[in-house]
Amino acid sequence: PCTDFDVAYFHSYAHVGIHEEMIKDRARTETYREAIMQHQSLIQGKVVVDVGCGTGILSIFCAQAGAKRVYAVDASDIAVQAKEVVKANGLSDKVIVLHGRVEDVEIDEEVDVIISEWMGYMLLYESMLGSVITARDRWLKPGGLILPSHATLYMAPISHPDRYSHSIDFWRNVYGIDMSAMMQLAKQCAFEEPSVESISGENVLTWPEVIKHIDCQTIKIQELDSVTARYKFKSMMRAPMHGFAFWFDVEFSGPASSPAKDTSAASVASGSSSVSPSGEGNQKKRSNPSDALVLSTSPEAPPTHWQQTIVYFYDPIDVEQDQVIEGSVTLSQSKENRRFMNIHLEYSSAGRSFVKESVMR
Ligand code: SAH
Repeated sequence: PCTDFDVAYFHSYAHVGIHEEMIKDRARTETYREAIMQHQSLIQGKVVVDVGCGTGILSIFCAQAGAKRVYAVDASDIAVQAKEVVKANGLSDKVIVLHGRVEDVEIDEEVDVIISEWMGYMLLYESMLGSVITARDRWLKPGGLILPSHATLYMAPISHPDRYSHSIDFWRNVYGIDMSAMMQLAKQCAFEEPSVESISGENVLTWPEVIKHIDCQTIKIQELDSVTARYKFKSMMRAPMHGFAFWFDVEFSGPASSPAKDTSAASVASGSSSVSPSGEGNQKKRSNPSDALVLSTSPEAPPTHWQQTIVYFYDPIDVEQDQVIEGSVTLSQSKENRRFMNIHLEYSSAGRSFVKESVMR
């Protein structure tokens, strides 16, 4: 059922700004284009569905790669513009824009390829992957191509003294006045919700851990209601720890290049085997064992509009080198609005335990 929340969600995609931001994100858009070109042999003469086509850009890339037909589906009113863009490029006979939800529109044939740019902040925010799964289960031929094919969410402890002092320590001395009475409120306001911002590799205290690895061929919708992972970090340095950063990468590999192979092992290794703690997802086009293209949003990768998502503690924890920080994290769809995400974080270090609940709205 299409709820009021979905109406608001799709409405937000009717504005030009959000599409401009995504398209100007070159790491994103160029990696998609390159992935399409790399899989040209699987796209040429084939039928494609673009789940959430927005302005139609990925559909047009697929048409340029020789697709026989592309169903460009979007529930937002941006589909009106997508149709115009397709027409202006002389592709109306190839790219069929369907203005509706993938859950509702009808496509009277099986498709060979699904392409979608579904990733939200912290990968799972917005919960759009469920719609890609729906499209897969409705139309994709067995063994068909899904781009991207895999996604991995990472987590790592961070130190961010500048951010902390900018928002909190600032109140210690304001025009010569001791305003530290403001600090409690400042912490509440600054750190209650997860924050989308750019950090650098230097903020990261040790190797990231994988929170969730997704194989888009096999994942089930129910698996996404709630994701829980345990973690155990050992800080590589002595520093005040201010919270945890989350980022993700997605991989574009074809069914042929990775036949029923365990890619999760490869991704885990690649998340923790580089020279720098924030992960090997540091080059936009890192090559992995299967040589697949990767779009990474790691702190060391070229910046993207996703940046990183930080869950800050209200008060920093001073950690020594080799000190262990362990606990668990649960990401779940909010009951209030399934587009929102609840983050339940448990962490303990040096015998003290903490719990932090937050909601990403
Ligand atoms: N593919 C475009 C836009 C990506 S943004 C690009 O790469 O630039 C995601 C788009 O998916 C939004 O326009 C949103 O309206 C659409 N979308 C999300 N869920 C959808 C669903 N269930 N059915 C149809 N469109 C959906």
